[in-house]
Amino acid sequence: MVTIAVRAEEADDPRVAISPETVKKFSALGATVKVLTGAGSRSHITDDALKDAGAQIVSSKENALKGADILLRVRRPSLEDVSMLKDGAIVAAILDPFDNREGLESLAGSGISLFSMEFMPRITRAQSMDVLSSQANLAGYKAVIDAAAMFGRALPMMMTAAGTIPAAKAFIMGVGVAGLQAIATARRLGAIVTATDVRPATKEQVQSLGAKFIAVEDDEFLEAQTAAGYAKPMSAEYQAKQAELVASHIKNQDIVITTALIPGRPAPKLISKAMVESMKPGSVIVDLAAERGGNCELSEPGKTADAGGVMIYAPINLAAKLPVNASSLYAKNLYTFLETMFDKKEKTLDINWDDEVVTGTLVAKGGSIVHPNLKAKE
Ligand code: NAD
Repeated sequence: MVTIAVRAEEADDPRVAISPETVKKFSALGATVKVLTGAGSRSHITDDALKDAGAQIVSSKENALKGADILLRVRRPSLEDVSMLKDGAIVAAILDPFDNREGLESLAGSGISLFSMEFMPRITRAQSMDVLSSQANLAGYKAVIDAAAMFGRALPMMMTAAGTIPAAKAFIMGVGVAGLQAIATARRLGAIVTATDVRPATKEQVQSLGAKFIAVEDDEFLEAQTAAGYAKPMSAEYQAKQAELVASHIKNQDIVITTALIPGRPAPKLISKAMVESMKPGSVIVDLAAERGGNCELSEPGKTADAGGVMIYAPINLAAKLPVNASSLYAKNLYTFLETMFDKKEKTLDINWDDEVVTGTLVAKGGSIVHPNLKAKE
């Protein structure tokens, strides 16, 4: 019998790695799901809802974790928790694997098979396992909602007897998963939306959402997408041309949402201090790249800065501000990934260590770090 353990995350993350839906699905695979009481409460998932779905609600951490085959987490677990699991147990989480190397090594040293969900390969089969997408989509939506709440004007055009309110202008910088949802949300709220990216594939996507695409479309732009679908770092020459274009556009914008990232690098700086100063007081910038240093020069990660009346909001982990949806989608991502590791007939674990989704996400096994992106630093 495979045992799965879940407990609440630390105080800074209200999400949880299980939902009633995934308890049912894991139970159907023959697994026992043990959940520490209260684990889902900050995502409004009650013990009763999990129990009704088939989970065992336990009252102590030891009871949940001791001898478990699998630990499901949102964030990196503690060494203490991991040491209680069965030898060689599976742990899946959003590990932030480039952060706190020492901590990662001690987790690896405990002998667990450690999976980093953000390393999920972006292949069609793994779309439902893709935590970056499930969380970024919510962050893109929430960024616009928060910007609208901070903005001292309405977003849609309104024609009233007392006068006409003009539609707000929203500019989305970086059109990946978060950016596309930000465009769709801002459009739904009635804003006039423009968007920019360095990957040519985004042009059509932006237009299909009813927004206007603006970008420096030179030869380098045509080559800016890697085989994996990500953006390449752009040359200094391109960045200068891009800055010129952004400078002339941004001064007329009311809401700017930035989401631009390049894998394994600090976020590109797209909005300078001078650009912020050119914007009207009351304008709002939401910098979703804050965790990686931010797209705006004046962003202070985790804070809201007031730069001459322009509000610069640089939230960390914005998806977690919608914990109900974030938990439910994340739990489903985990389920579809782990389901591939079950022998459905025998109701046991039978991991295909050569499977692309396994090799892509496996960070540590047998006591050491094994992922190629992390090994070089050892
Ligand atoms: P991301 O979070 O890495 O980056 C966000 C956006 O910022 C990207 O669109 C990127 O091109 C853009 N960007 C980078 N540098 C920039 C700059 N200097 N100026 C303007 N924009 C800049 O991206 P993401 O949301 O993870 O999406 C990356 C790719 O992965 C996309 O092609 C997406 O369609 C693809 N994807 C595939 C799957 C799948 O098949 N499973 C799932 C999700 C996403």
